[in-house]
Amino acid sequence: NKKIVIVGGVAGGSTAAARLRRLDETAEIVMFEKGEYISFANCGLPYYIGETIKERDKLLVQTVEGMSNRYNLDIRTFSEVTTIDRTKKSINVKNLQTGETYEETYDELILSPGARPIVPPIPGIEKANALFTLRNIPDTDRIKAYVDHENPKRAVVVGGGFIGLEMAENLYERGIEVTIVEMAEQVMAPVDYEMASIIHHHLKEKGVNLILGDGVKAFENSGTKIVTQNGLEIETDMILLSIGVRPENELAVHAGLSVGARGGIQVNASLQTNDPHVYAIGDAVEVKDYINEQPTMIPLAWPANRQGRLVADSIYGKKAMYKGTLGTSIAKVFDYTVSTTGNNEKTLRRLGIPYEVVHVHPVSHAGYYPGASPIFLKLVFDKETGKIYGAQAIGIDGVDKRIDVIATAIKGGLSVLDLPDLELAYAPPYSQAKDPVNIAGYVATNIVEGVIETIQWNEIDDVVSNGETLIDVRNPIELENGFIEGAKNIPLDDLRERIDELPQGEVIYVNCQVGLRGYLATRILQENGFIAKNLDGGWKTYASVY
Ligand code: FAD
Repeated sequence: NKKIVIVGGVAGGSTAAARLRRLDETAEIVMFEKGEYISFANCGLPYYIGETIKERDKLLVQTVEGMSNRYNLDIRTFSEVTTIDRTKKSINVKNLQTGETYEETYDELILSPGARPIVPPIPGIEKANALFTLRNIPDTDRIKAYVDHENPKRAVVVGGGFIGLEMAENLYERGIEVTIVEMAEQVMAPVDYEMASIIHHHLKEKGVNLILGDGVKAFENSGTKIVTQNGLEIETDMILLSIGVRPENELAVHAGLSVGARGGIQVNASLQTNDPHVYAIGDAVEVKDYINEQPTMIPLAWPANRQGRLVADSIYGKKAMYKGTLGTSIAKVFDYTVSTTGNNEKTLRRLGIPYEVVHVHPVSHAGYYPGASPIFLKLVFDKETGKIYGAQAIGIDGVDKRIDVIATAIKGGLSVLDLPDLELAYAPPYSQAKDPVNIAGYVATNIVEGVIETIQWNEIDDVVSNGETLIDVRNPIELENGFIEGAKNIPLDDLRERIDELPQGEVIYVNCQVGLRGYLATRILQENGFIAKNLDGGWKTYASVY
């Protein structure tokens, strides 16, 4: 009988344990968890603090007793695995309740220890009383107790990633005035700047105090005052530090297992470390980026769960291949949903991979059916082959399914040329007969096929200041809400009559509200012998950054 030992009993560890049992009724499976709980809902923690999730028990997806019984597992909580002896194929365990230590042997070892919040040595941090990080149930209990009993009026969230923004919203829901301090120029690193800008506006609209491009320099007065690098002083009653996570790799490092540049445990496609009897999964491992194939760290629940199943398959000799991580993700930020899959422009630029993008602004479902709202949808792809590199979407409704469809398309090897041909479910309450994904596909296909050329939101100002011609083909009344400085207004329906006003032999740039009329105008100009380029995403994309 095989003896399989698992370190870490939450997302990856529990999934692996259950699958192992399903594959082998006779194996001895021992799962160690240093905390009190196994298989809890990390992703739900912010919503319990915000009281959208009212019962704490709902976070405990599986109890030790329930899971031990169902899967016949030996689950040991409050048990920290402290060292691995690979030659002896054994581990050392410390019982955190009694202090007792002991050895346990294994045939196969699975590490799923996760990642822990980064806590940098900022001056004053150790004296900050109400400073929290959020990873597990005890953290959640501490934060919730503080909010419930100490009645904080003001909170500072340091770091504008997923957890930071979710916590900002949930603290706000508890009536707390929230400030977010983010070192980068934008929140939500997985989306590009112009997309994040939509979120910036929304956060401000909600009354969140958003400080970008500035980091914390010091915590003063026992953490009731934050001084930023730019010299701001912020008084606060509590601090949530959410500036990212670091893989729990100490066990692996001490055991001589190889880790990558950012500390992630290195594994092959079968999730084996450099020791064939030691496997590693979840937030602690380095993965291959599915798009660009570079090593990366993507600490999300889907990879941990997928790997949890595959690692069991792998141990039982099934050909299990983890193909890499796309990084498909989603978050609720107040009224908006933000979702992404694959690579963004920042990543591709850093890697020197050429790409093209389109921005479209379709509505979530038929405009005439109540409740329709716009989706800011961005597609990033290869102009030569149409290969989809990634997508980003922000909106109130229908964002999740569009990103999920595109994520599926990527894994299915489809290109932007295939997106128009996706036959997606349609009735007015749900979509449009041309679904937003189809529309993005049409626009991208036009680019790949050379039907149209575009210019991006961040390039158009230079063009105008160089004295080149930009025409705005919207109706005059639409320009009252703003227009690009230097644009000449020729409404689309007048363009054929007024075409002689435009210079031949130089590029005419065109913009409209969202890009559609600009496309029509660009085609009219091209058919009349002009060289024309459309502003991708129109005024709406351009204006999102202001
Ligand atoms: P974990 O689930 O963290 O489990 C690791 C466990 O190992 C821990 O319980 C730890 O105590 C234990 N452990 C570590 N070292 C030892 C040791 N030496 N001995 C014994 N036990 C040990 N992902 C999403 O995709 N979507 C979301 O919406 C989302 N929201 C999140 C919200 C929050 C607040 C947090 C904290 C995470 C969120 N995540 C989300 C991330 C997701 O929870 C993780 O990607 C996932 O849990 C990783 O699984 P894992 O098994 O690698 O690690």
